[in-house]
Amino acid sequence: MTYTLPELTYDYGALDPSISGEIMELHHSKHHAAYVAGANQALEQMAEARDSGNFGTLPKLEKDLAFHLGGHTNHSIFWKNMGPDSPDRPSGELAAAIDEFFGDFDKFVAQFNAAALSIQGSGWALLSWDAVASRLNINQLYDQQGNVAVLTTPLLMLDMWEHAFYLDYKNVKGDYVKAFWNIVNWSDVEMRFNAAKKHASSLLLG
Ligand code: MN
Repeated sequence: MTYTLPELTYDYGALDPSISGEIMELHHSKHHAAYVAGANQALEQMAEARDSGNFGTLPKLEKDLAFHLGGHTNHSIFWKNMGPDSPDRPSGELAAAIDEFFGDFDKFVAQFNAAALSIQGSGWALLSWDAVASRLNINQLYDQQGNVAVLTTPLLMLDMWEHAFYLDYKNVKGDYVKAFWNIVNWSDVEMRFNAAKKHASSLLLG
């Protein structure tokens, strides 16, 4: 298998009560696993198309790969973005960059929450590093793969699909988004920020 389901680095119940163990187990072992299987299947079917020389289904397979690989990537980052014993706020260069590009931490949170809560349908809210302008942005990612430009590197991702919160929060999305800030693993976000800045200049500018 090209893509494999990563193990969580904490127990399913470790994020309770912000996210219940029941949701975490279903979300990881069923939903995320299905994206992994779908991404592998799309690659296998592309190999079959190459062998047969029949590329009639390629547009569908390309959409399948983007959707399922997107789902695999997004959830892999999301699990790492959270943790049971995390600092309340970012520190160091990330904290300074948030102030630079959003005004201050509270304004950043307000915009991120608004992005999360105004997604039409299923998607994700992102804090990202834009390698084109070397800046932080907040994005709405639609479904698992839409509405975000390439060379955008996600640093912090919040799953706003109903499967991510409905068992715990029903339709009260705002409480889910509020609880998310209790479990953000800022150490992981800072690691992604430093890595994104480091390789970003070689992606576009040479
Ligand atoms: Mn999900």
